Amino acid sequence: MPSKKVSKKSFNYQTNADLPPLKEIKENWDLATHYYKSENDPQIEEDVKAAEAAYLAFAKKWRKKPFTTDAKLLKQALKESEAIAGNPSFSRPARYYWLRLSLNTGDTVAEKRLALIDRRLRKAGEETLFFTLALGQIPKAEQKKILANQDLKDYHYYLERLFLGAAHHLSEAEEKIISLKSRQAYGRWTDMTDKIVSQRHIIWQGKSVALPEAIEMINVQSFADKEKLWQKIVVELKQISEVAEHEFNAIITDVRTEDDLRGYQKPYSATALSYQDSEASLRNLVESVSSEGFKLSRDFYKHKAKFHGVDTLTYSQRNESSGDSINISFPEAVTICRDVFYSVHQDYGQVFDDMLAKGQIDVWPKAGKTGGAFMSAQSGHPINVMLNHVTDFKSLETLAHEMGHAIHAARSAKNSPFYDGHSIITAETASTLFENLVFDAVFAQVDQKTKEVLLHDRITRDISTIQRQIAFFNAELEIHETIHKEGAMSGEELAICMQKHLASYLGKAVSVTKDDGYSYVYVSHLRYGFYVYSYAYGLLMSSLMAANYKNDHSYVAKIDQFLTAGESKLVKDIYKDIGIDTTKEDTFTTALERMKQDIADWKKLISKK
Ligand SMILES: [Zn+2]
Repeated sequence: MPSKKVSKKSFNYQTNADLPPLKEIKENWDLATHYYKSENDPQIEEDVKAAEAAYLAFAKKWRKKPFTTDAKLLKQALKESEAIAGNPSFSRPARYYWLRLSLNTGDTVAEKRLALIDRRLRKAGEETLFFTLALGQIPKAEQKKILANQDLKDYHYYLERLFLGAAHHLSEAEEKIISLKSRQAYGRWTDMTDKIVSQRHIIWQGKSVALPEAIEMINVQSFADKEKLWQKIVVELKQISEVAEHEFNAIITDVRTEDDLRGYQKPYSATALSYQDSEASLRNLVESVSSEGFKLSRDFYKHKAKFHGVDTLTYSQRNESSGDSINISFPEAVTICRDVFYSVHQDYGQVFDDMLAKGQIDVWPKAGKTGGAFMSAQSGHPINVMLNHVTDFKSLETLAHEMGHAIHAARSAKNSPFYDGHSIITAETASTLFENLVFDAVFAQVDQKTKEVLLHDRITRDISTIQRQIAFFNAELEIHETIHKEGAMSGEELAICMQKHLASYLGKAVSVTKDDGYSYVYVSHLRYGFYVYSYAYGLLMSSLMAANYKNDHSYVAKIDQFLTAGESKLVKDIYKDIGIDTTKEDTFTTALERMKQDIADWKKLISKK
C-alpha cells in the first residue's frame, strides 16, 4: 500500500560485533533442496505410504496391550509414539505443499495434493487415537504413581498435560458429536461476519475500497482525513452489526455451554490450559495492565493530543505518526540483525547466517504470496521464515521478530519431539525480545529527530500490543458474563461495552464514541477465545528480559536457558527458572517500567522543541 509520506532518510549503521564473512544470500526458499524436487518427485508418495504404515503398525501393536497398567510397556509405547511424531519424513509431504501454497495461494496443484494427503493421514492418524484416549482414562490414583515413577521421567510433563486435558474430556461419542457440530455452531458464524466485512466496499477519494483495506488505510491518511474515512467505515460496521450481534450471541453461548459440559471454571480456563499457562498468572497480567498499564497509556495520549495541538484526538487519530521514520534496505537490515544476534550469542548469529545462505528465508513480496510474515518450525525440518520485505523500519522490526521465533525454534530443537514446540506465550516473548534488542541498537545510532519518531512509534505499537489487547480481554470477559447472565446482548449493547473498554485505556484525551464501539464487528481476535492476552504477556516478559540483559550482559545465560526450554514445562516454570515470578502481580507492573521510561523519554524529546 502506498504510504502518504515516502521517507528519504537513510543512515549508516555501524556494527559493534566482529562479523564473520557472509556467504551469498539466497532470497527465495529453496524447497527443491530441503523438501522435494517437484510435485512429480516419487519420494512424496513413498513418504505418505510410510507414514500411513507407521500409524497402522502402531495401532496394531498397541491396541490390545495393557500399556496403561504396565510402566515398562507404557514407556516403550510412548517412545514409539514420539518417534512417529518426530519423524520428518512423515510430515514432509504436507509441509512441502503447505509452504508452496504460502508462496503462491493460486498453486492449485499444491492445494489439491495437500487436501488429499491431509485426508489420508488424518484417517491413518485416527487409528492411533485410542492411545491418548486410553491414557486419559487412567484413574487419578494411578496417574499419581505414573508421575512419580522415575523411569518415566522423560514423559512426565507430556503425561501431566495429557491428564490435565483429559479431566475435561467427554465420552468418545459426545466428543464426536461436538466435533461434527462445531463447524455450524462456531466456524460458520464467524466466517459469515468475516465474509460480509471483506465483501463490503466504501467509496474513498473516488475509488471503491474493500472494508478491510479501508481500515488498514486509516493510518496513512492525513490527520483530518482519518476521521472522514473512519466515519464511512462506521456506517458499514453499524449495518453489519445487525448480523454480528447474532453471531456473538450464538458463538459465546456455544462456548459457554461446552465449557459447562467440560467443567471449566472460568471463561478463560480452557485457553490458559491450552497455552500451558496458569490462571493466576493470567489474572496478574490483566490486573496489572488494567490498573498501572492503563494509567500509562492515558498519560501518553494526553501528551500526544497536546503534541498534535488538539484538546482531544478522535479514536481514528490515535496512531497519528509524529514525523518521518527511516528507510532501511534489506542488506542493511541483515547487517543490523547479524550485528545484534552475534553480539548476544555466537550461535544466534550463526542460525541467521545459515538460514540466509541455505534459502530458508523468503524475502520479497510476490504476486500470489500470502501477506504478512511468519516463522514455521517442525520436528526435524529446516526452519522457514516468510517475509514481505519493503525498505522501511517496520520491515526491519518484522525481520528481527520472525528471526527471534526462528532462533527460539533452533535452540529448542534439541528437546525431544514432544517438547520441541512452544506455548504462544513463550514464542511471543522470544520474538519480541530480539525485536527489542534490534530496536535499541538502531536507536543508539540515529539523530535526535529520528529518535523522537522511533520512540513515539514504539510506544504506540506497544500500547496496541499490551493495553489495547488487555482492554479487548476485559471486553470479551464482560460480553461472556453478560450474555450468560442476561441471555443475550443487542448489537448496540455490544458497541457500548466495546466503547467503555476502548476508553478505559485511551483516557480522556481520546474521544471514544458509541460509533467507535462498533469496531467489535471487525476485530476478529475477539472471536478467538481470550487469545488476545498472549501477545501482551509475551511483550511484557521480553521487556523484563531485555532490561536485565542491558544491565548485565551475562544475563545471556538465562536468555539461552529460556530459549532452549521449548515446551518442556509449564510457562510459569520456564520463567521461574530464569528468575521471573509470574505468580506475583508486581512482576507485570515492573515489566511496564520500560514503557514508563519510553514515555518519559519521549516527553523530554518533544519538550526540547
Ligand atoms: Zn510472533
